[in-house]
Amino acid sequence: MVYSDKAKSYFGETLNQIQSQGLFKEERFICSPQAASIDVEYPQGAPQKKVLNFCANNYLGLSSHPEVVQAAREGLDTRGYGLSSVRFICGTQDIHRTLEQKLSEFLGTEDTILFASCMDANAGVFDVVLDKEDAMIADRLVHASIVDGMRLCKAQLFNYKHSNMAHLEEKLRESQECRFRLIITDGVFSMDGDIAKLDEICNLAEKYDAMVLVDDSHSTGFMGKHGRGTHEHCGVLGRIDLITTTLGKALGGASGGCVSGRKELVELCRQRARPYLFSNTIPPVIVAAAIKVIELISKTTDRRDKLEANTLYFRKEMTQRGFDIREGVHPIAPIMLYNAKLAQDMARDLYAEGIYVIGFAFPVVPQGQARIRVQLSAAHEREDIDKAIAAFTKIGQKYNILGKKKDEIIKLYGL
Ligand SMILES: *Cc1c(COP(=O)(O)O)cnc(C)c1O
Repeated sequence: MVYSDKAKSYFGETLNQIQSQGLFKEERFICSPQAASIDVEYPQGAPQKKVLNFCANNYLGLSSHPEVVQAAREGLDTRGYGLSSVRFICGTQDIHRTLEQKLSEFLGTEDTILFASCMDANAGVFDVVLDKEDAMIADRLVHASIVDGMRLCKAQLFNYKHSNMAHLEEKLRESQECRFRLIITDGVFSMDGDIAKLDEICNLAEKYDAMVLVDDSHSTGFMGKHGRGTHEHCGVLGRIDLITTTLGKALGGASGGCVSGRKELVELCRQRARPYLFSNTIPPVIVAAAIKVIELISKTTDRRDKLEANTLYFRKEMTQRGFDIREGVHPIAPIMLYNAKLAQDMARDLYAEGIYVIGFAFPVVPQGQARIRVQLSAAHEREDIDKAIAAFTKIGQKYNILGKKKDEIIKLYGL
């Protein structure tokens, strides 16, 4: 027998360990489209419950927008369901080129190449751009997909302490002998919602003759005055050499990603990026809908403006009510609770109150930094946010944490 008893018990035991460490991820079934208000079956088999969703990456509320859905339908009708090919054989339609051009215009870059996901974009890009004699200099908190992409690349790896510019400069000095150097960072870091210091990073890059890559998955579509991303927010448009980002968050939330930036680097990805060459093209439905998304957000900044207003409102009100929120301006608003069980218990009670949020603990965040990560959306109306604030206040009172700072919460609940 191929799947032996030994194998079965080994893998079963691994699953038990995951469970006993409290790391088992249970999935919750949503029985409606993604939106501010969703129907959820949780736990499995329980009757459906209507809850306000505060944990999606649906930043602009476009995941189920009628015009986006309609564009997807038209894409299906006019270009079919699938292409049964990679891009370079017979998987490129006119609309793929259109979407790439529109993304370049929106991001303010020279050229763009689509991938099946940003995970794929990150898996492909480093190995294409860099070789043994080069260096990758990455923030220590970059996204897992960048970590994996860097593993697939032969260039020498340097890490700098999270957003620590002095340490980055040290690494730039250390790597001076390398042929090309690429500074690598997330635009926004997903657990704290903090923004990379792109202006300082670009200055250092220029001083030390390095290139810059930013993964802007948590910013594209809404950060910056026109929503172009953190490069717009930080005033460094045109100074970022490579941007990787996703269509799976603010830009409609289906799937897909891209590498956008210097013309030669993008073209080289078309020739050599392995996830591009050896994985299927993005389906026309998604491409057509994504083109509509870019049109919608290029025409008006209403959605990103509303998201910004929602974010400021929630952060201000929650702070006034005595919650300990990581400071910032991003719609990721981490409510710090420090203790893992407290974060889980509060998230469960909030769910009972009709507010869907998730508690995050180690190893997703550092030990002793458990939190509930709230994510605001342009799909939220003021009354939705008020309901969330009221529920948080009620549950915060129950656990006696309002007005308490880190030390006091830890004194009550431990770490
Ligand atoms: C979500 C995310 C990704 C993955 O995007 P997909 O398109 O879903 O693969 C990559 N990088 C960062 C920083 C992300 O937040």
